[in-house]
Amino acid sequence: METQELKKSVIDDIEARRDELGELSLKIHSNPELGFQEVKAADWLTRYLEENGFSVERGICQLPTAFKASYGKGEPFIAILAEYDALRDFGHACGHNIIATSAVGAGVASRAAVDRLGGSILVIGTPAEELYGGKIIMANRGAFNSLDVAMMVHPGTSDYATIETLACQTLDIEFFGKAAHAAAGPEKGINALEAMLLSFAAINSLRQHIRSTARVHGIITDGGEAANIVPAHSAGNFIVRAMDMDYLEELKEKVLNCFIGAATATGAQLKYKWDEVCYAPMRNNMALAQLFAENMGSLGRSVSLASSGNGFASTDMGNVSQLVPGIHPFVAIADEEVQVHSPEFASAAISDRGVKGMLDAAKAMAMTVVDLIASPEILSNVKEEFEKS
Ligand SMILES: [Zn+2]
Ligand SMILES: [Zn+2]
Repeated sequence: METQELKKSVIDDIEARRDELGELSLKIHSNPELGFQEVKAADWLTRYLEENGFSVERGICQLPTAFKASYGKGEPFIAILAEYDALRDFGHACGHNIIATSAVGAGVASRAAVDRLGGSILVIGTPAEELYGGKIIMANRGAFNSLDVAMMVHPGTSDYATIETLACQTLDIEFFGKAAHAAAGPEKGINALEAMLLSFAAINSLRQHIRSTARVHGIITDGGEAANIVPAHSAGNFIVRAMDMDYLEELKEKVLNCFIGAATATGAQLKYKWDEVCYAPMRNNMALAQLFAENMGSLGRSVSLASSGNGFASTDMGNVSQLVPGIHPFVAIADEEVQVHSPEFASAAISDRGVKGMLDAAKAMAMTVVDLIASPEILSNVKEEFEKS
C-alpha cells in the first residue's frame, strides 16, 4: 500500500516540475557542449540538485564536468546516471539533454522514498559518453564501487527495457616504410601504403570467418604524400567489436595479426596502440528491467523487455553494468524511421514528444527507486541475479 502511495507522490512531484525540467532540458539542448567540456550543463544540473536538497561533489574522478549528488544516508545506494555531452556539428542529436533532465527529475522525486524509508539516492553526472567513454574512466577510478543499483534512460525510437551492445576497442595503426622515387627508383623504397592496403585485404579475408555479431571497421588517415613518391608513412584507425570480452580478446589478436602479416610482406615497420578505453558489453539486469517495464507500463507505454532491433552500438554504460546491477532502457521520442545522431533526432529531443518521453523516463525511474527502497526482497532479487550471472 505504502509503495503505491509513494509511487503516486513521485509521479505528482515530477508532473509539478514539468515546466522547470522542460526548461532545463531546452537550455542544455540550446547550448550543446562536447565531451569533457560540458561546463554549463554540469553547472545547471548540479545547481538544480543542490537547490533541491542534494549535497553535490563537483569534478569527481579528476574530471571537471563529472559530479556526484547525494540525498539520504546509508544503504541501499541507488544511482541514476546523467549524460549531457553533445555531438560535433549535430548538437544534441543523441538527446543527452533528455538523459540529464530525466535523471535529475527522477533523483529529486525519489527523495520522498528516502525520507519515508531511508537509503540514499545519488545522481551521478557522467561526461563524454560519445567519444571518450567517460564512465569507463570513472569506473576505473572507483566512482561506482559502493552502489547497489545504477540506471539511466536513453531516448530512442521505441520503448525498450534492455539493450544489446558490443564490447569494443579502438586501434591506432602506423606503418613506417622508406621514401623513393616511385618510377626512377621504386626498388629502393618500402611502401607503407601497400602495407595498409594489404592489412585491409587481410581483415576482409578474416571477416568471413568471424562471428556474425562481431564487427571490424576502419579508415586510412594517412596514405602518402604524392603519387610519384613511394609512401614512407601510412596511418589508420580501426575499431574491433564483439558480443563478449573473451571473443573481443580473441578477435583483437586476429586483427592485429593482419597488420603484422602485412608488415612482414612489405618490409614496413608496424607501430600500433590499443586505446586504453575498452567498452564492455551491456549486462542487462532482467529483474530491474522487469520493474522498469512495469512502471513504464503503468504510465501507458508498452515496453518490450527484449532489445531486438535497437542495433549493435557500444556504450560506456556497459562497463558500469559489469560492476553494478544496471539497466539502460530506451524511451521513444520519435518515429521508427528517424535515425539517432541525425538532425531529425536533435529536433525530436526538444519536441513535445521529447518532453513527454523525458517526464515518463523520470517517473518510471523514480517509481523503480520506490520499488527498490520499499522492498528489501525486490532489491535482493536484483542483486542475486547480478551475483549469479
Ligand atoms: Zn550517441
Ligand atoms: Zn547517446
